[in-house]
Amino acid sequence: TYRTNLCFTKCFGEPTGDPPIQSSSKLLSSLETISLDGHFSFKNNQAEAKDFGKRYHMLPLAVLHPHSVRDISITLKHIFQMGSGTELTVAARGHGHSLQGQAQALRGVVINMESLKEPAMQVHSGNLPWVDVPGGELWINILHETLKHGLTPKSWTDYLHLSVGGTLSNAGISGQAFRHGPQISNVHQLEIVTGKGEVVTCSAQQNADLFYSVLGGLGQFGIITRARISLESAPKMVKWIRTLYSDFAIFSKDQEHLISTKYSFDYIEGFVLINRTGILNNWRSSFDPKDPVQASQFVSDRTTLYCLEMAMYFNSEETETMNKRIEKLLSQLRYIPATLFQSEVPYVEFLDRVHISEKKLREKGLWEVPHPWMNLMIPRSKILDFAAEVFDKILSDSTSGPILIYPVNKSKWNNKTSVVTPDEEIFYLVGFLFSALPTSTGKQSLEYILAQNQIILDYCVRDLPGCTQYLPHYSSQDEWQAHFGSKWRVLMERKSAYDPLSILAPGQRIFQKAT
Ligand code: FAD
Repeated sequence: TYRTNLCFTKCFGEPTGDPPIQSSSKLLSSLETISLDGHFSFKNNQAEAKDFGKRYHMLPLAVLHPHSVRDISITLKHIFQMGSGTELTVAARGHGHSLQGQAQALRGVVINMESLKEPAMQVHSGNLPWVDVPGGELWINILHETLKHGLTPKSWTDYLHLSVGGTLSNAGISGQAFRHGPQISNVHQLEIVTGKGEVVTCSAQQNADLFYSVLGGLGQFGIITRARISLESAPKMVKWIRTLYSDFAIFSKDQEHLISTKYSFDYIEGFVLINRTGILNNWRSSFDPKDPVQASQFVSDRTTLYCLEMAMYFNSEETETMNKRIEKLLSQLRYIPATLFQSEVPYVEFLDRVHISEKKLREKGLWEVPHPWMNLMIPRSKILDFAAEVFDKILSDSTSGPILIYPVNKSKWNNKTSVVTPDEEIFYLVGFLFSALPTSTGKQSLEYILAQNQIILDYCVRDLPGCTQYLPHYSSQDEWQAHFGSKWRVLMERKSAYDPLSILAPGQRIFQKAT
């Protein structure tokens, strides 16, 4: 079953606030005995009790700012050796862009992974290029570093100000995933500190079980301190195209056609526009219509429209071939002809596009607001029913932010990883990326959006078996067990092998540390 919560305190009964002084002073002095290359901070750790979701606030006892892998290893060894007699848990924090406190640790230790800078990023050119990066490195920094060598990672998230450890603990999905798989399909090797404090190098060939456990493993089995990421030649430019559809069935058929075609685009996504003429005009303004006259006359009598978003990478000398390829691909699609919009932008600008929106939202005070986001994976066989119920009925009059929707190929995902996906060759990622306005009491209020999310989740559970949550969030172990389904037994075995005391990532609330 699915369930969303208004707040952590309601379900777990743990209030936000300072730790009880008596029990914590003993734990503090115990942590102070650890000799580190970096340091602990025991005060002013409010930042580590927050995340992008802005709904969960759990104050840690201490924050570790590691300067070496050894710092992380000895801290975990120390806590592991304290045994189950203490409630101390440990959460790695990448960039804190979780939604429901997943990188927080109430009265525990949060590890600020961005402090771990050593060994520095190292690019390896050659036939199969790769880059070694610290686990807390941000994808935007990896992009800039690899571009110096004319190289780039292949698979991305829509937003690059996220850490490697944070996205690899989930999957890391964007419009390139149909071709390259998610980010977890593009990693050659990891260095992990387990819940026992052991430092282990792993890959598909070496300590493979740990390697696959950690990928998509929600931080449950170890802390990623280094990752070796697969690279390819970087393009200079991107042709970026958007078209509109009024019929969901035609829209999704075209998306599926594009992800199954051999010489297709490099990036394919899409989004749903419900009663959002403002947004419609907004995205039009940064794109040029292919036919300005037709485009200016385009008026839709539909309140719901579907936007197909495609991008093709190119270098200037390939412009002609690229245009021909695009023309051929577009001729196979059935979008509303007047709505072909295009733009040419540098590769970095395309990949870092959400950061541009972030800056605008920050200026308006609309970034630091609660984000009751919900991400679902819907099997292809259920997507028409899902769209009819959710877009045409549940959300028919308004939404509080973008809704992303695009298909990916399951064959590009490795079933040995911990991530759970629908059991069909094609499934859709649907992201309801809504923002709540703290002052609103109506449809933009947190309560309203959460209730709406719950209606969608209930519908999926009741009528669409096989759907699952991405960036999952549940409040009981039964729900987690249902989420993992046939993978639950393996998950339990992996947990007892790599984190037997359930010290790691308590904010996911899958396992509770025995005390
Ligand atoms: P954190 O929030 O810091 O941590 C997330 C989880 O991973 C926690 O449980 C934490 O303990 C664990 N963790 C962190 N670092 C490590 C480590 N080194 N080793 C082990 N465990 C670790 N996701 C997509 O797939 N595609 C998208 O397009 C996408 N777009 C996004 C856009 C925005 C604006 C935001 C806010 C999020 C987006 N996400 C997307 C979700 C994002 O990938 C996850 O929330 C991710 O976990 C955030 O990374 P982070 O570094 O902030 O992780």
